[in-house]
Amino acid sequence: MLLANVDQRLALVSPDGQRYIDVERASEGQFSSAPQEVYERWQEFRSFARDVPLDGGEPLAREDLGSPAPLPRQVFAIGLNYRDHASETNSAIPEVPLVFTKFASSLGGPDVEVEHPGGSLDWEVELVVVVGERAHRIAPEDAWSHVAGVTVGQDFSERVLQHSGVPPQFSLGKSYPNFGPMGPWLVTTDELADPDDLEIGCLLNDQQVQKARTSDMIFSVPQLISRLSAVTPLLPGDVIFTGTPAGVGLGANPPRFLSVADRVISYVEGVGEIRNTIVAQATA
Ligand code: ZN
Repeated sequence: MLLANVDQRLALVSPDGQRYIDVERASEGQFSSAPQEVYERWQEFRSFARDVPLDGGEPLAREDLGSPAPLPRQVFAIGLNYRDHASETNSAIPEVPLVFTKFASSLGGPDVEVEHPGGSLDWEVELVVVVGERAHRIAPEDAWSHVAGVTVGQDFSERVLQHSGVPPQFSLGKSYPNFGPMGPWLVTTDELADPDDLEIGCLLNDQQVQKARTSDMIFSVPQLISRLSAVTPLLPGDVIFTGTPAGVGLGANPPRFLSVADRVISYVEGVGEIRNTIVAQATA
């Protein structure tokens, strides 16, 4: 199942991504049009969605897409979760997941423009997990059953602010508006051959800068859910940015950062791609 936010309304998307069915109308009001609310009734919704015919529907325009989880109560993000990325940033391999947040107001739709805030703006393609069933003290082997689905995310990062202070505080430098684009839609894991082993990559102005597999994660999705939920309940609709592989600008020699008019394409195999352009900051 592909689930999207079309003009801030929940929609089921055809397997080819070309058409959509409005959920509130198709369910005659049984389910809310608000994309975030579906996660509260995830199992019920899955049962309903199984029987919705996806032929027909309306043509889907990419510019109408928003984040498939636009208003999560909690956003978790994981630092240094791929060995080669830890190496390129001269960091030790973490022994426990490094956890920070991207504040919810930084989330955006798949193709949003990103205003350059000054400083050193960098890219980080990530597999993003959206929680379905509430998860508290969950064993790794039960973790995927608590996941609604996965999507593509970009963890845009302004490195000067990210690394200021001792110890550094990651969250604020990763939370300017639209620093967390997500999409193009949520894909349930039954659509994926192996949700633990997907190609993930990023192109900057059509040049490939990141390419890896999610099976290279230091802490897999089930391990992350287990370790996070050992402390704090993961709530329906919560979002987890699971970390980025090597190939970010900070890791280049010399380091290379984003400028106005740069185009960043981020993709995950079996899910799709998101396309973000860097624009000048609007004058106040
Ligand atoms: Zn990241």
